[in-house]
Amino acid sequence: MKKIIVYTHSDCLLKENGPNHPEKKERLQIIIESIQDINNINIEIKNSPLAVVDNIHLVHPTTYIHNIFSLIPNVGLKGVEKEPYADTLLCPNSKNAILRSCGAGIAAADCLIKDNEKRIFCAVRPPGHHAETTRANGFCFVNTVAVTARYLQDKYKIKKIAIIDFDVHHGNGTQEIFYLDTNIAYGSIHEYPLFPGTGSEQEIGIGNIFNAPIAAGTDGKDFIKILENKILNNIDKFKPEIILISAGFDAHKRDPLAHINLESKDYYDLTTKIIDIANIHSQGRVISFLEGGYDLVALSESIKEHFLGLSEI
Ligand SMILES: [Zn+2]
Repeated sequence: MKKIIVYTHSDCLLKENGPNHPEKKERLQIIIESIQDINNINIEIKNSPLAVVDNIHLVHPTTYIHNIFSLIPNVGLKGVEKEPYADTLLCPNSKNAILRSCGAGIAAADCLIKDNEKRIFCAVRPPGHHAETTRANGFCFVNTVAVTARYLQDKYKIKKIAIIDFDVHHGNGTQEIFYLDTNIAYGSIHEYPLFPGTGSEQEIGIGNIFNAPIAAGTDGKDFIKILENKILNNIDKFKPEIILISAGFDAHKRDPLAHINLESKDYYDLTTKIIDIANIHSQGRVISFLEGGYDLVALSESIKEHFLGLSEI
């Protein structure tokens, strides 16, 4: 079994979104508790550092980053979007939560290359895959998985990276950032139509974008079959040097924000399919990032299945 390194930070628990908001700190608390509960896998939990603006700048312009931080209120909450999606909110503690989330990806990249670790999970919030180059949305401000990919290319001269996104929502931000990038393959399986509205099969970039939209009611068996046929087969041909995962657990049947019917154990099966590709092309190197997932029981069970899959040799 492979060891799993986890990067997280208590600052990520201080991000508030107000009452009745699905992206709440209890999500990360249950993820950490569930990880600590796992006793048959060697897991090392580390504190994530604060990302520096120079790193974030690999994806987002400095003006965008400073604008987001300038909007942070001293008290209460501040929305950064117009209606009807006025639920991407900044609170007084947002800055460090955002920087720790992105910092987890940076530290994970360093750990992967310098320490030759193979499996790393970033247990962070706010999530990132909806954040576009200059647009915060969908609870996301900085696209951590995208910054990590760019950092790996910039600092370590890694060329080809695949990002596999099994969050139930389309990662519009990640797609937008890499839409014309031959060295990044982005594959997303997501309920469609659903927020954010993008992710049709016609959106193919320059042949590097693989969207697998699925209908409400899809079960785990079909989900995994479609993931293999529409995404993993193409990632296999792309031959990535490293695989990054946008791991949302909101395709679970218990999740309140979507209508896909995965069971917890399906997260083991789909993770092992990704590991298989990583073992063939990527020296087994995988960094996985927490994105969405809004039912606490589903998160608790699914993260254990994901870790079991990540630990596979
Ligand atoms: Zn989601």
